[in-house]
Amino acid sequence: MTKTLIIGGEYQSTDEVKPNINPSDTNDVIDEFAVGTVDDTEHAICAAADAFEAWATASPLFRAEILERAGQAIFERREELGRLLSREEGKILAEGIGEATRAAQVFKFYAQEALRVDGVAIASVRPGVRVETRDEPHGVIGLITPWNFPIAIPAWKLAPALAYGNTAVLKPADLTPGCAWELIDILHKAGLPAGVANLVTGRGSVVGDALVRSDRVAAVSFTGSVATGAHIRQIVTGRGAPIQQEMGGKSPLIIMDDADLEQAVDCAVSGSVISTGQRCTSNTRVIATPGIHDALVEAMARRTAAIRVGNALDPQTQMGPVVDKGQLEIDLGYLEMARKEGGEVLCGGELVECDTPGFYLSPAVVAGATNDMVHVREEIFGPVVSVLKAADYDEAVAIANDSPLGLSSGICTRSLKYAEDFKARSTAGMVMVNLPTAGVDFHVPFGGRKGSSYGPREQGRAARAFYTSSKTCYTNHA
Ligand code: NAP
Repeated sequence: MTKTLIIGGEYQSTDEVKPNINPSDTNDVIDEFAVGTVDDTEHAICAAADAFEAWATASPLFRAEILERAGQAIFERREELGRLLSREEGKILAEGIGEATRAAQVFKFYAQEALRVDGVAIASVRPGVRVETRDEPHGVIGLITPWNFPIAIPAWKLAPALAYGNTAVLKPADLTPGCAWELIDILHKAGLPAGVANLVTGRGSVVGDALVRSDRVAAVSFTGSVATGAHIRQIVTGRGAPIQQEMGGKSPLIIMDDADLEQAVDCAVSGSVISTGQRCTSNTRVIATPGIHDALVEAMARRTAAIRVGNALDPQTQMGPVVDKGQLEIDLGYLEMARKEGGEVLCGGELVECDTPGFYLSPAVVAGATNDMVHVREEIFGPVVSVLKAADYDEAVAIANDSPLGLSSGICTRSLKYAEDFKARSTAGMVMVNLPTAGVDFHVPFGGRKGSSYGPREQGRAARAFYTSSKTCYTNHA
């Protein structure tokens, strides 16, 4: 079955379609999906604009109940959706189901938030005048999402956009359109009025471009690479519209001499291989002080080499394939560069043969890395972790902060002094103590600093800052 566009509540086919291919088995074509055009995108923007007034002025309870029903439906279908996710993206089934469950939790959270849109009454300095502020929706929001979280990221943009009374056009990543299609379908089955959420699959350079350029799109929320982010930021800020962006990461994890070695190895390894290292928050730079460095490197290499790489749907698999051929070539290119730069690839970095043809790469640990090496400075977005040595805590912090990116960071230590100091001195937007740098809660702010992010935070109650616009009203009641 071809997965259509979903515009104004209608399921529309297109002349051009594209296969959605399973990276664990390139013979497995999951579906074909519609390739939208500029006209389709404009049609979707019009449908969202037409639906806006009725949705924005609907009872918050009406919005809350739809979001709750959608959250419940996702939860009940989490195994099926998780399986689809693992098939189209390649993360292992447990992670796929976990991500689908996360999407359900996000919808349920914002179902409640839809009821909490309050205002503030402030005493006026003028007698007989009352002042109040209220947070109102913007209008049509353009949502552009990456391939590595095919259901969670569309969920954490769509749910707050709709909860606060906006309408939306979603353009998911070309590599993973399946989960986004299911999400919009579920919302309609949950009673969402036509036009409130629209889906246009297709190329970023066509559909995404039309979305960010349209004057009828009041605000844009984007997650993806730094390069695409910089390009669309210029367009959206150039026409004076608000934009929120979450982009790349090169997250440091400091391991202090006094860390619990087992815990530190757990953090360093799981934080770099979960989701095949294709997480913006992965700890790709592990920075160890001299007393623990050698034992850590040895244990990381041993544990990483033992990870079973294979088909994402096989219950024995601990790490699935890379998402596609292009990303696999990027990963191999950076590994080659790491060797040339003087890094020592202690394990992994090799193509793996499995029963089904796919993009399998064994996870790599690169020792002897320094912070000026290109593979250490640039985001690889694959299962590659570099280990750096720092003379002491202060040098470790300096290395951790020496990056143009600042999404997440972490430290493994038993010392309260180091933990508290690092939380204060880290230049990242999220800081973890005795945890991997990846892995966050769904109900608290998410986002980075420096080149990793732009605009207000996503998720939790913080999302309201982006998805609403404040209005100050004065009433003369004398
Ligand atoms: P990407 O290539 O930048 O694509 C992101 C989205 O932008 C896709 O939907 C893409 O469409 C679209 N796009 C491409 N060109 C466009 C254009 N000219 N105008 C408008 N939209 C355009 O990123 P990706 O490869 O999908 O995702 C990986 C990146 O996302 C990594 O850098 C990762 O760190 C980052 N990421 C960040 C976070 C975070 O929260 N900080 C979370 C997850 C991922 P097509 O797919 O059709 O090209």
